[in-house]
Amino acid sequence: MTTDTGSQELPSFQNLPLHPNGHLGLVRDGALVTVLRMEGQEHILGVRHSCVVCDEGSQLQVGARAVEVTNPCSYPDGITTETILHVPSGRIVIADDLRAVYGWDRETIGDYNTAAGQDRAIRSLAAAGCAFGPVGNSCPGLYRTSPDTYVIATAGYHENGSEDQLAGAERVAGIITDLWAYSIADLDDFTARGGSVAALAWSADIVDITPGTYQVTHHTGEVGFDHDAPGALTFAHIRRIA
Ligand SMILES: [Zn+2]
Repeated sequence: MTTDTGSQELPSFQNLPLHPNGHLGLVRDGALVTVLRMEGQEHILGVRHSCVVCDEGSQLQVGARAVEVTNPCSYPDGITTETILHVPSGRIVIADDLRAVYGWDRETIGDYNTAAGQDRAIRSLAAAGCAFGPVGNSCPGLYRTSPDTYVIATAGYHENGSEDQLAGAERVAGIITDLWAYSIADLDDFTARGGSVAALAWSADIVDITPGTYQVTHHTGEVGFDHDAPGALTFAHIRRIA
């Protein structure tokens, strides 16, 4: 009597690099993915369900030397989000969170932990009248860099303790980050919609700026934006355009 072990395929696995086709965050830095073959099926392990930039799922194909992602990333350079903020009153209220007044549409935003989701959140709040953007747990400030230009930034510090890079800019507001974001609105618009600065208490600042229309350019969705980079970190540029 003989035992037949040859007719049934044994489980096997193979570790291969992933070629991500522009997507980011599908695997941990430097990690290989595992192709497991058992019972006639091929399973690919160790790949995140979606890209941290575009929020799309990846279609995978196992090649001889790598696992290929067949669908390209829609945002291979990441996302720079440009929006408009109208400030007819010449006074802004700035805080981490003004969503109680300007709303927050979960359905529209999708996965907020992706650059595409954050881009949708920024655009959705901008359409409602609020300049919003994620900044991590950074407690940044609003700095005036020239009469009608501003940045949302953290100053960064030299090892000797002196501030760098934003020298010459004037810090005109601080932003606490209980919500890891900034929110800016025209003060009159905010109060007309039922917002109360008194209710925000110490978590909000009021700043006088030139009345007009401002372009807000938000950078955290860009490929290469590094929240842990040393020195000053600029999350957004704000400039008057009309
Ligand atoms: Zn992608």
